[in-house]
Amino acid sequence: METTEWNFPCDECGACCKVLDCPDLTADNKCSIYATRPFLCNTKKMFDEVHSKTMTKQGYFDKAAIACKQLKEMYL
Ligand code: SF4
Repeated sequence: METTEWNFPCDECGACCKVLDCPDLTADNKCSIYATRPFLCNTKKMFDEVHSKTMTKQGYFDKAAIACKQLKEMYL
């Protein structure tokens, strides 16, 4: 299933990139390879190709919000 609308609630804090110690994260917490980022970092592809089989888009966003909050507490 491919989703047509994607409004993933990311504020670009960079915490998930820091947990992976990503070398492509810039000093101002931006992804320097965003257009060609790996599958793991592409939330829409991850949902469409993996998580849509087991949860709704809203469920995915809700779980992501919990994970983002925890990452921010740990890495920012
Ligand atoms: S931790 Fe969440 S809000 Fe922060 S950059 Fe990653 S996906 Fe976006």
